[in-house]
Amino acid sequence: MKKKSKLKLQNNNNNNGQELIKIENILNKMKTTLYYSENLSRLTALKELQMEEDNDPFKILIGTILSARSRDENTSKIVRKLFQKYKNVIELANADLNDIKSIIHSIGFYNTKSERIKQVSKIIVEKFHGIVPNEIEDLLGLPGVGRKTANCVLVYAFNKPAIPVDIHVHRISNRIGIVKTQNAKKTEEELIKIIDKEYWLVLNNIFVMYGQNICLPIRPKCQICNLKDICNFYINQQNN
Ligand code: SF4
Repeated sequence: MKKKSKLKLQNNNNNNGQELIKIENILNKMKTTLYYSENLSRLTALKELQMEEDNDPFKILIGTILSARSRDENTSKIVRKLFQKYKNVIELANADLNDIKSIIHSIGFYNTKSERIKQVSKIIVEKFHGIVPNEIEDLLGLPGVGRKTANCVLVYAFNKPAIPVDIHVHRISNRIGIVKTQNAKKTEEELIKIIDKEYWLVLNNIFVMYGQNICLPIRPKCQICNLKDICNFYINQQNN
């Protein structure tokens, strides 16, 4: 007999009458799996930065730009190194581009990222009086800042509810079956409809940790995953 997903909607709705999913159950199951696989202690780069830098919006913005398509361990190390030399936005705006490149050269796409962080710093100094804006429209107006980066800054720097969707959030949401989407933008649009706002601030960090440690892009560790009974990807594999 074919197994079926037990993923059910909650009884409560959002303001638009859309049914919400039981995200608390999913997050708890992820945390339990991470805990027993001894991976809970490994924080994501942005969580680490948020804790170390006391939610400093500028460092979190630069850290998010640097983290794109880069390993977390490397990102944290480079961000620390960069801010050892440049203490604030004005220093980074006036920095020599080649110096920035030499500091971040071990990170992927370091040429483009060096230019971006210098441009972004200059705009923040000139247009925003040295203060990182906390509105999504302003953040999206900065060069190289897309929705994921802007939403990360809102969540990790300003504690403003948003759902940053990176490759992990997109992949896991689709595998479990809470969305059925082709790209990150669509995933964000769907998730904000079906997830209680109360959980938006924590979702990215837990999903990213899960994607880095358990629900890997290739060969996910389904055998130790507590989401097996509700995950469409797993259930479909068992049925084939
Ligand atoms: S059962 Fe497998 S595919 Fe589904 S969430 Fe867990 S690790 Fe990912």
